[in-house]
Amino acid sequence: MTTASPFAVSASAGTAPLTREDCVAADAVNPLARFRDQFELPEGVLYFDGNSLGARPRGTAERAAEVITAEWGTDLVRSWNTAGWFDLPARLGDKLGRLIGAGDGEVVVTDSTTLNIFKALAAAVRIQKEDHPERRVIVTERDNFPTDVYITEGLIEFLDQGYELRLIDADLPWQEAITDDVVVSLLSHVNYRTGTMYNMEKVTAHAHANGVLTIWDLAHAAGAVDVQLAAAKADFAVGCTYKYLNGGPGSPAFIWVNAAHQDRFWQPLSGWWGHARPFEMETHYEPQAGIRRFLCGTQPIVSLALVECGLDVTVQTSPAELHRVSLDLTDLFIRLVEERCGDHPLTLITPRDHAVRGSHVSFEHPNGYQIIQALTARGVIGDYREPEVLRFGVTPLYLGYADVWDAVEILRDILDTRSWDAPEFHRRNAVT
Ligand SMILES: *Cc1c(COP(=O)(O)O)cnc(C)c1O
Repeated sequence: MTTASPFAVSASAGTAPLTREDCVAADAVNPLARFRDQFELPEGVLYFDGNSLGARPRGTAERAAEVITAEWGTDLVRSWNTAGWFDLPARLGDKLGRLIGAGDGEVVVTDSTTLNIFKALAAAVRIQKEDHPERRVIVTERDNFPTDVYITEGLIEFLDQGYELRLIDADLPWQEAITDDVVVSLLSHVNYRTGTMYNMEKVTAHAHANGVLTIWDLAHAAGAVDVQLAAAKADFAVGCTYKYLNGGPGSPAFIWVNAAHQDRFWQPLSGWWGHARPFEMETHYEPQAGIRRFLCGTQPIVSLALVECGLDVTVQTSPAELHRVSLDLTDLFIRLVEERCGDHPLTLITPRDHAVRGSHVSFEHPNGYQIIQALTARGVIGDYREPEVLRFGVTPLYLGYADVWDAVEILRDILDTRSWDAPEFHRRNAVT
């Protein structure tokens, strides 16, 4: 379906200022508006934090009750077979794979993103020990989500074989960081703070030309932008299901491994779920063929089962359509902030160029933390990231054009009246 973009006009063109009626009219032709009813959101809340914790699909409560009362309560241990619990990581992986351009048998839903990064890095290091034994550099980004850097440091420390970290930053662009002495690059497809998106195909081609393997962290990309792992010829990918995929707080993450690499080595978290014959209870480890060797141990089945409810909504659309509407909504967000909050010190740090923008918009403001608290008190939930960043996640499955208008109006009011300066908005919470 090709739907003309209601706000495709550039944010700056000398067109008349937008009105709320324009936004309502855009909602009426939004091809994704029909999904709003599939989510449970409280009255009076405008939720712009689905990139941190996705909203709850309506079907999730019923599914949770079924897993707990029927599958666990009544069927007890038989459910490992009868309810398909044991196969869940792979079955959900196949479903999720459709949203990231992966084939069947290439994804498992399991563990956390942090743990999956460790497995992917370790597997990449072992493959390269054979292909390029002299290499010792692992590339990631200074501005990456911290856990990506921390877990890489942990692996380097543990290996104790002279591996070193090289960080992409303002002084070292990716083209210069990913050179022929590098083992693997670990990049976030969409940056968690700025919303800047890499061209996966281009970076991967550059990496491969230098003999470098790629790991893509899709935490802020899966379910939000048009990820095409196979087409980009990527090597490994990981990501969350609790953000844009609406799996629930702390729901298990996913890992994708290009079929060409799956059977080359096994990853070191070699638990019994990855064994070739887990119920033979053999003395020694023998990895299962394929993606299941990236499993480790028993999964939190209640949480894992609920991941399916979010996936079942998302697979009714396509990543390309999701991203197209998302870009339209983020364009609108940027344009309205500039039209209506233009006399306040808000600095856009998200790219205007669609080719490199993910699905959230971020602004810097010296009082960013207080403004986010004041917005939350008025029912507009975004979040705050150091330093001074106000971040607004745009989730077209349950946010529309008038929602963006209403959120920016509340932002404008908070800025115009300086209501963010109240003492209660200066107190720091543990989670921002
Ligand atoms: C949210 C996020 C994570 C989270 O990792 P967990 O193991 O689920 O805590 C990892 N990487 C990126 C880029 C993220 O945005």
